[in-house]
Amino acid sequence: DRLISPHLRDDDANFDNPLRPRSLAEYIGQEQAKQNLAVFIQAARQRDEALDHVLFYGPPGLGKTTLAHIIASEMGVNIKSTSGPVIEKAGDLAAILTNLEQGDVLFIDEIHRLSPVVEEILYPAMEDYQIDILIGQGPSARTIKLDLPRFTLVGATTRAGLLSSPLRDRFGVISRLQFYTHEELAVIVRRSADILQVAIDSEGALEIARRSRGTPRIANRLLRRVRDFAQVGSDGHIDRAIADRALLRLEVDRRGFDHMDSLLLQSLIDKFAGGPVGLDTLAAAIGEEKDTIEEVIEPYLLQQGYISRTPRGRMATALAYQHFHRPLPSQAGQ
Ligand code: ADP
Repeated sequence: DRLISPHLRDDDANFDNPLRPRSLAEYIGQEQAKQNLAVFIQAARQRDEALDHVLFYGPPGLGKTTLAHIIASEMGVNIKSTSGPVIEKAGDLAAILTNLEQGDVLFIDEIHRLSPVVEEILYPAMEDYQIDILIGQGPSARTIKLDLPRFTLVGATTRAGLLSSPLRDRFGVISRLQFYTHEELAVIVRRSADILQVAIDSEGALEIARRSRGTPRIANRLLRRVRDFAQVGSDGHIDRAIADRALLRLEVDRRGFDHMDSLLLQSLIDKFAGGPVGLDTLAAAIGEEKDTIEEVIEPYLLQQGYISRTPRGRMATALAYQHFHRPLPSQAGQ
């Protein structure tokens, strides 16, 4: 389990809630998504209607769940949270839907992992606020239509491409979350430090921010680990030097890469002459799951320009060669 995994880890559990921004005003970054949401929320409130269904997509840890909670609180309604793999049977979803109240938010995380039968229930629920329920068994079985209150479905997915188009088409608002800039993450780190009552200066916050892979969840986690080093090795105050020392001890390098990133990049360079190499081959070479590479390791390396994706596979870019002080082959991707 990597320290810089963007997924929720056990050691995050106690901190995820207290560190979560509660309103759009407190939510840092994602300006475009935020500004649009503010308009839609205000308009829906003025009309006294439920907000349109909203889909958030983007890598894990960027604040999709947080936004779902913020929508509910800004709309002044309740939120019910579940996730794609948890809803096993059509009846499970029907039970959740029939328990919603007018205007409520139903948040479904990992919505791309809903089973097709469950998804079928969702279509009329989203579109007409109705579901068909099967009553009885055998020849006497019959379906009845149930009206649902007008609710807002907020879906989150790391893989928008895996969503079926009938499902995607039923969302009125589709919003893609971006990796955060270092400056935005530094603000998040300082805010979290305030909540955790940790003393940190702006250079210390920026050092943690730079190494957090554009991801608030990772920034918060690194802050907590650096705090330990500052407390034990010094007076508890985090500055740049302490952050740097602690993160190197934790094997998070100055770009926020850890051994998995290095392994992937160096395999590309050394074993495959910089690529292009297919995902299957790369996964076998570094002993990592394909999904993990695609969902967790690659997005940040792509965004930072260390690898490129071509129709024939992944390539190491000039930046990757420079990072490992390797001479640049003439055909390296840019
Ligand atoms: P996702 O659902 O995309 O995996 P979360 O909404 O669970 O991500 O966010 C992970 C953590 O990062 C949250 O606990 C929250 O503290 C923090 N976080 C996310 N987005 C922001 C933000 N814009 N400002 C401040 N903190 C944030």
